[in-house]
Amino acid sequence: MTQPAPRVRRLAPDLWLLDTLFQGEPGVIASYLLTGADGLALVDVGSAATLDHLLDAIRATGHQPEDIEHVLLTHIHLDHAGATGPLLRHAPKARVYVHHIGAPHLIQPEKLIESARRIYGDRMQTLWGEMLPVPEERITTLDDGVEMRVGERTLRALYTPGHAIHHVAFHDAANADIFPGDVAGVRLEDISYVRPPTPPPDINLEQWSASIERLRALRPATLYLPHFGPTAGSDSHFDELRARLYAWGAIVARGMREGKTDQQLADDLAAASDPEVAQMAVASGASWAADATERYELASNYLMSAQGYMRYYRKVHPEALAE
Ligand SMILES: [Zn+2]
Repeated sequence: MTQPAPRVRRLAPDLWLLDTLFQGEPGVIASYLLTGADGLALVDVGSAATLDHLLDAIRATGHQPEDIEHVLLTHIHLDHAGATGPLLRHAPKARVYVHHIGAPHLIQPEKLIESARRIYGDRMQTLWGEMLPVPEERITTLDDGVEMRVGERTLRALYTPGHAIHHVAFHDAANADIFPGDVAGVRLEDISYVRPPTPPPDINLEQWSASIERLRALRPATLYLPHFGPTAGSDSHFDELRARLYAWGAIVARGMREGKTDQQLADDLAAASDPEVAQMAVASGASWAADATERYELASNYLMSAQGYMRYYRKVHPEALAE
């Protein structure tokens, strides 16, 4: 099988977008490369299944994986951090930065792998490849407010739970940039539609909306989304994300009161959202417009979103499920 050509884009003199070509699709899962005197850094690394694309993309920028010094993880979900373990074999100098609640699952990924296997079954290998443990001595754990110098920038970790309990965003105050991970939602390129990625096990709407307001208050010029690419850190982006986060929650809570299954709830979310995505995609004139809903589904699928809300309501708001 021939590999697709690496897709990279220079966003600033010291900043590159690397497309990890998840499932062979461009524009779904990004990694960011920062360059400069304080060492090459990656922000999120994608799935272990796309490690080769990541390595090719690094080389396509004129840099070498062996020279990576910092691997910054917004959170440990497999589409952001899955490639960390195998990447370290190619990047012997690299240290991994991750929130302290997430770190144990990188050191001992068995639980993470097992819960993914329950969800993905035989598709596990194709989607997530071979994950490897990250040696503890190569991890620096993060807490809110920790600053680090990478490339040419000072990045500050912002503890931003809601999508995941161990989630951090990275704020570059000098450039008004934020690498927000998944807490700023999924917004594919060329289409202005923000989807809340709400997988199990620990989404929390109250924490998430507080995290959204925290990012908004920093007045970011640009959000570098993992799914996908740079977008303006505008009020409308944050408003749309927050509104849809709650609107979807209301759909799931209502369906749960009616006794619907996770698949039925996923279908309800799709019915409420896909027509709008499809219409916007056609209006955008994007070359991939016909596949817009499938591409959003690859970045963050409805079934997992429904399951994430179900767990949240059962755990945090059982009263919302009373008849
Ligand atoms: Zn995630």
